[in-house]
Amino acid sequence: MADVKPDSDRVPLDAETRANISELAQMLVDGQNVVFITGAGLSVASGITPYRYRQDAIWSNFVTEWGTRKRFKEDPFAWWNEFWLRTHEKPEFLNAKPNAGHHMIARILQCTNTKLVTQNIDRLHSQTSVPVQKLVEVHGRLGKYKCITPNCEFSTKSSLDIPDLDAFSCDGSTMASGNLRVHVPLCPSCHAPIMPQSLFFDEKYTSHAFFNWPRVVKWLTHADIFVFIGTSFSVGVTQEAVAMGRRTGKRMFNFNLYADPEYSDLLHVVAPSSDSLALLCEKIISLQTDDRNVLEKPRLWYRMG
Ligand SMILES: [Zn+2]
Repeated sequence: MADVKPDSDRVPLDAETRANISELAQMLVDGQNVVFITGAGLSVASGITPYRYRQDAIWSNFVTEWGTRKRFKEDPFAWWNEFWLRTHEKPEFLNAKPNAGHHMIARILQCTNTKLVTQNIDRLHSQTSVPVQKLVEVHGRLGKYKCITPNCEFSTKSSLDIPDLDAFSCDGSTMASGNLRVHVPLCPSCHAPIMPQSLFFDEKYTSHAFFNWPRVVKWLTHADIFVFIGTSFSVGVTQEAVAMGRRTGKRMFNFNLYADPEYSDLLHVVAPSSDSLALLCEKIISLQTDDRNVLEKPRLWYRMG
């Protein structure tokens, strides 16, 4: 368990948090259908700026109006150079590596009936051993792009890849220098300006196949349990999931640094996610070791190396 913090290095967890982790571990080992929904808080330990609640957070410094398709269409050059390159295509995103929390989630997914929906576009889950068929990046992925022309194949169905934005530099600046300025990349099919494959504030989850919204709805509908990790509950998918969970009586766990009173009906796990997920993994291993009836199932502890 090279990347799992030893118990002695973790923050002390209160009794309620420990009890909730134990309950969730038992449900996971029992084979219940679980959906994990991860947010920006999970990637903070990888050095990525969260979207809200910190002074350096992206939406504290840039009005949310920038994060819209409408604003993009008004002036794609300004949008790329004054907003997108300054907030997202930065070394902290491009050089980030998955942290212990990402790796532990991947291991849990390998051995339980768990699916993963992430709000993060940082690609960090996809750099772990998480099974790809169990992952939906519902807010998009850095490095992929889409067209804005209705009916163009790249506007609703397919994505474009740009491995190196330096190829679009308009003044010799580079990504590495931190001041890259680009000509707006154009769609190879219809030559319209392209924008990142990310869900913007005035777009719907159903606007592009990449967001895989039908699969998310299917997973949420069939799940027994929702587990929120590092999310502020301020975006559509978490609000949708909480509403569905309340309506249908699902068990809901909230792994976060604080217990938001607005969500007092959730089972709170208040701790840094690297600590709470480490304990969750330990509990799963312990239960699997004790359980003589699930010998045919993949074991988490086989995969901890
Ligand atoms: Zn196009």
